[in-house]
Amino acid sequence: PIDVNALADEYLRLAYHGLRAKDKSFNADLVTNFGESLPKVNAISQDLGRVLLNLFTNAFYATQQKSKQFTDGSYKPVVEVNTLQQDNSVQIIVRDNGTGIPDAIKDKILQPFFTTKPTGEGTGLGLSLSYDIVVKVHNGTINIESTEGEGCTFFINIPL
Ligand code: ADP
Ligand code: MG
Repeated sequence: PIDVNALADEYLRLAYHGLRAKDKSFNADLVTNFGESLPKVNAISQDLGRVLLNLFTNAFYATQQKSKQFTDGSYKPVVEVNTLQQDNSVQIIVRDNGTGIPDAIKDKILQPFFTTKPTGEGTGLGLSLSYDIVVKVHNGTINIESTEGEGCTFFINIPL
């Protein structure tokens, strides 16, 4: 049984500090709305942790890329994580106001080795691994909403 809120909190900080270790000038607002008395989910914490770490790292990266376009400081990166119980599952929502995903690549991002990051910065395995862990192992779902230039929201559902 996994406490999703504790896991999300830990990995959100880890992802943020990982990025800031390489780019000290990067600042983002971290917003969390963790559901109270959220039921625990049956999962392997390393696996679910890996999913969360990748979602958070992707979100911070997308806002970091976007902030390079607004050198006047008019853009403030925000990464928001919500958790809630939804019927018989726990839902984790990860939202960022970064670069978003262009329509042309939306059906490719879950494929192994698909990445838009420069060599050395991404393997393209994060979302394909996340799909395997959430959908194949835990019988959950991943849904994605994104508008290019505005940001991206990932909805992860893990059945109880
Ligand atoms: P990687 O992070 O190594 O590139 P992923 O499987 O995690 O591999 O992601 C694949 C691609 O999906 C990314 O390269 C990027 O183009 C896109 N992507 C994923 N998450 C986001 C996001 N939050 N905002 C914008 N693009 C994203
Ligand atoms: Mg990734």
